[in-house]
Amino acid sequence: MNAANNPFNLQGKVALVTGANTGLGQAIAIALAAAGADIAAAGTSAPDETKAQVLALGRSFAAIEANLSSIEPVQRIVEETIEALGGIDILVNNAGTIRRCDAVDFTEADWDAVMDVNLKTAFFLSQAAGRRMLAAGHGKIINIASMLSFQGGIRVPSYTASKHGIAGVTKLLANEWASRGINVNAIAPGYMVTNNTTALRNDETRNRDILARIPAARWGEAKDIGGAAVFLASAASDYVNGIVLPVDGGWLAR
Ligand code: NAP
Repeated sequence: MNAANNPFNLQGKVALVTGANTGLGQAIAIALAAAGADIAAAGTSAPDETKAQVLALGRSFAAIEANLSSIEPVQRIVEETIEALGGIDILVNNAGTIRRCDAVDFTEADWDAVMDVNLKTAFFLSQAAGRRMLAAGHGKIINIASMLSFQGGIRVPSYTASKHGIAGVTKLLANEWASRGINVNAIAPGYMVTNNTTALRNDETRNRDILARIPAARWGEAKDIGGAAVFLASAASDYVNGIVLPVDGGWLAR
């Protein structure tokens, strides 16, 4: 298959990935670049390692400094992406945060901190990018959901609410925009080795219980997400709208 008839080819596309300095966002940015996309990375920490790997793949890279705790930077992020790389074809709402505490003691601050990044900013960044994509008549938006888009979880009330919320918003945007050339979908990672899950992996009992339930018998690696991201970012998924795709080693099957 040559590049022209490969439905997974992203050559000539520009992808904006939030939180691409580390973890799943970094792996997604690198997978998209390996498929041919140029990458804009928006977040608080400098994405130097990601930049080096994207440039090594022969793709262009732009770093956009932005704190996604509020929606204040969303318009600027889209404008800077277009200015630096010439367009915006793909948006990956990956940046996310988590607060762990028993529900009975959970604070409003921990509720808002998580909901703002994981749900509110993801929606308004989708809106800002979506306006450009609607004008262009094409685009791909990928939200990062979770097993806790399907299940309740334990000691993570705002995280569970935000991940149920992002699954709903994925379907809502798909309903509104599918007929206008924009695919909106989500990936629901299982239990992956990143900063997000350090506390779980350090807790011997939780680590053992989680591993025992995963049919693949291992925690996921960040790079396990790459293929799903390329699929949902590419023409291969042009008739895929509003799905929440688990990449979970079989967790939900059990
Ligand atoms: P991670 O290593 O902690 O990465 C989180 C990313 O989000 C980092 O780049 C972080 O930037 C960024 N971020 C957080 N708050 C931000 C803010 N206010 N402004 C800008 N950037 C912000 O965890 P991860 O596992 O890769 O998480 C990526 C996504 O996957 C999240 O949405 C998470 O909920 C989801 N997820 C993870 C798992 C898992 O098992 N790991 C499972 C399901 C879903 P800094 O590094 O600068 O803080």
